[in-house]
Amino acid sequence: MKEIIIKDKQKYLKENYPFEGVPKLKDKMRCIHCDMIFTVADFKVFKDNSGFEFICCPNSPDCDGTVIDWFEVE
Ligand SMILES: [Zn+2]
Repeated sequence: MKEIIIKDKQKYLKENYPFEGVPKLKDKMRCIHCDMIFTVADFKVFKDNSGFEFICCPNSPDCDGTVIDWFEVE
């Protein structure tokens, strides 16, 4: 997996976020893999060998959590 640097993260989320309700960059989320609360703007993107891009936890690659492991913080 190779990290990709995203210039416009809000646009990237709009185009690639897999669920309804694209979060804003200033929103807080909790990653259930490493149990960290982070700011959405800190997300990372990694690309695998097939070219698929994963929206990942800011603790990647130490944490293997991806966007499906994020939960909204009240
Ligand atoms: Zn994590």
